[in-house]
Amino acid sequence: MAAYEYETHDYDVVVVGAGGAGLRATLGMAEQGLRTACVTKVFPTRSHTVAAQGGIAASLGNMGPDNWQWHMYDTVKGSDWLGDTDAMEYLVREAPKAVYELEHYGVPFSRTEAGKIYQRPFGGHTTEFGEGPPVQRTCAAADRTGHAILHTLYGQSLKEKAEFFIEYFAIDLLMSEDGQCQGVLAWKLDDGTLHVFAAKMVVLATGGYGRAYFSATSAHTCTGDGGGMVARAGLPLQDMEFVQFHPTGIYGSGCLITEGARGEGGYLTNSEGERFMERYAPTYKDLASRDVVSRCMTIEIREGRGVGANKDHIHLNLSHLPPETLAERLPGISESAKIFAGVDVTKEPIPVLPTVHYNMGGIPTNYWGEVLNPVEGDPDRVAPGLMAVGEAGCASVHGANRLGSNSLIDLVVFGRAAAIRAGQIVDPSTAVPLPSKASIDKALGRMDGLRHAKGTVTTAELRLEMQKTMQADAAVFRTDKSLADGVEKMTAVAGKLDDIKVSDRSMIWNSDLMETLELTNLMPNALATVVAAEARKESRGAHAHEDYPDRDDANWRKHSLSRVDGASVDLTYRPVHLDPLTRTEDGGIDLKKIAPKARVY
Ligand SMILES: Cc1cc2nc3c(=O)[nH]c(=O)nc-3n(C[C@H](O)[C@H](O)[C@H](O)COP(=O)(O)OP(=O)(O)OC[C@H]3O[C@@H](n4cnc5c(N)ncnc54)[C@H](O)[C@@H]3O)c2cc1C
Repeated sequence: MAAYEYETHDYDVVVVGAGGAGLRATLGMAEQGLRTACVTKVFPTRSHTVAAQGGIAASLGNMGPDNWQWHMYDTVKGSDWLGDTDAMEYLVREAPKAVYELEHYGVPFSRTEAGKIYQRPFGGHTTEFGEGPPVQRTCAAADRTGHAILHTLYGQSLKEKAEFFIEYFAIDLLMSEDGQCQGVLAWKLDDGTLHVFAAKMVVLATGGYGRAYFSATSAHTCTGDGGGMVARAGLPLQDMEFVQFHPTGIYGSGCLITEGARGEGGYLTNSEGERFMERYAPTYKDLASRDVVSRCMTIEIREGRGVGANKDHIHLNLSHLPPETLAERLPGISESAKIFAGVDVTKEPIPVLPTVHYNMGGIPTNYWGEVLNPVEGDPDRVAPGLMAVGEAGCASVHGANRLGSNSLIDLVVFGRAAAIRAGQIVDPSTAVPLPSKASIDKALGRMDGLRHAKGTVTTAELRLEMQKTMQADAAVFRTDKSLADGVEKMTAVAGKLDDIKVSDRSMIWNSDLMETLELTNLMPNALATVVAAEARKESRGAHAHEDYPDRDDANWRKHSLSRVDGASVDLTYRPVHLDPLTRTEDGGIDLKKIAPKARVY
C-alpha cells in the first residue's frame, strides 16, 4: 500500500450525516457545549430528508381530540407487534415536545385559521385505539415538511457553533481492540485529503439503503453507509428483512407522491375505475397502513385489473379535490406529477406503483440511540462510543412496518435523545483518546485496495445486478422459492466484490471510487435483507410471505440480528422489549390495549 498522509482532528462528538437525524443530534450536542463535528458526504440541505413531503406525526390535537396513547396504539399496530414497547412509548410521548421545539427553532409549519400548526390525516393514524375515525395528527409545512425542517436545523446548528465537514466521505469506523469506537476515517472529496476524526462518541446518522433496490423513492445517496461500516466492525444489523414499499411512487421514475395526497382526499382506482381499497380495508380504505395498500395494489395488478397498456400500474385520483387544496397543500407533488408523469393533477389521475421507500431495519439501538452489540445472556449490551439515529438506526419503533410521518418524528426525537444521553456520558473535560494505528491502517488499506482494484466487473454492472436481484426476489410478496433464489444470487453477487474493477486511480473527485465504496456498503445491507427474509417463516408487516401467510407470534415475535462477513451472514435473534416505560397506575399505557391481535384496517 502507498503511504497515505492524514490530518487528525479531535472532538467530543462526531456525527456522521447531516439529514434530519444528524442535524438534530448535532444541534443538541452543540447546545450542551460538547465540541461537535458533523461530517457529511453531501451538503446538509441536500440530504434525503429534504425530499420528505407529507409531514411529521405528533398528537398535538390541533384538529380534534388526540393523545399519545392513541398514537402509541397506532404505532404498535403499524409495527405489527415487532417494535420495542419502551422505545415506541418514548417516541410518541416525546413527539409533541419535539415538534414544538422545531416550531420554536423556526420551522414554518402550515397553519390553521386559529394560527395553530396544521395537521393532516395519514395512513394508519386513528382515534380511540383503532376504533374511531382517522385522526389529523401529521404536522405539515405544505408538502415540503422535510425541506423546512432541514433548513431550520442547519441554521440552528451553525448558530450553536457546531463544525461542519461538508463533502467528506466517512470510510470506516476506527475501533479499538476491545470494541470501543474511537472515531472515523474520512476522505475529503474535492481535494483528495484524508482525515482521522477522533471522538469520544461517534453518531451514525447516515440514512437508509433504498438504493439496494432498482426502483426506490430515496436519493441516489441512500446507500446504507452506516450499516456497511457497522457490519465491517463486526456489529450486527437488526430486522433487515423489513423493507417498506410506498404505495404511490410515480410509475417509471419512482419519484414519490406523498401519502398526504390520500390524506387530503385522494384515492386509488383500478382499470375498472373501482375504488378497490374499499373492498380490502372497509374502515380506513385508502388510509390503511402502507404495507396493506401496497399489497392490495399488487393483487389488483396480478389479477389483471392494472391500468395502462401493460395493465401494470394503478391510478391515483386527485382531480376531484378543490384546486385551492392542491395549490396550498400539495403544490410540490402537483409539480412532480407534471414533470415525471406528464399529468395535470387537476384533470387526470397519476400513474403509480408500489416503490421501495424506507428501511425499518438498521443498526440496533436502545431508545437513547446507543448501539447494541448483543451477546448470549445480554441482548441489550451497549457497544461503547457508538450511537445510531434516524433511518440508519433501529430503536426499534417501526418494527415490521413504519407508519407514514413516523420517520420525521423518529429523526428529531432520537436525534435529541442521543444528545441528551451524550450529555450524561461524555465528559468534555478529558482528552480525546487517539484511535489505534492498527485501526487507521486497516481502514486505509481497504480504501487503497478498492482504489487500485483491477478485477473484471465494474461497479455500475455489479450494482445493477444487486438491484435487479433485490427487486425481483425480495419484493412486496415473497415465497420460499423467491427468497431461496434471492439468497443464492445475492451470495454470488456479494462474492463478486472481490473481482471489482475501478478505473480512476486519483483521489480528487473520484466518483468511481466513491460509488465503489458505497457499493461495498449497500452489499451487506442487501445481503442481510434477503438472508433474514428467507429465514423468517411467517408474514408480518412489510414481510409478506405467501407460503406462511399468518403472523406467528409464538415463534417469530423477535428481532433478527445479521452479522455480515463478506458474502456470508450469521443470523441470530433477540427478544422484543414488551415492557412499556410507564404503566396505567402512573398515567401510562394500558398493556391490554396494545396486546397483539389480528391487524385489520
Ligand atoms: C421521497 C421521500 C419522502 C418522504 N416523506 C416522509 C414524510 O413525509 N414523513 C416522514 O416521516 N418520513 C418521510 N420519509 C422518510 C424520511 O424522510 C427518511 O427516513 C429520513 O429523512 C431519513 O433521515 P436521516 O436523517 O436518517 O438520513 P438522510 O436524510 O438520508 O441523511 C443521511 C445523511 O448521511 C450522510 N452520509 C451518508 N453516508 C455518509 C458517509 N459515508 N460519509 C459522510 N456522510 C454520509 C449524508 O450526506 C446525509 O447528510 C420520506 C422519504 C423519502 C425518500
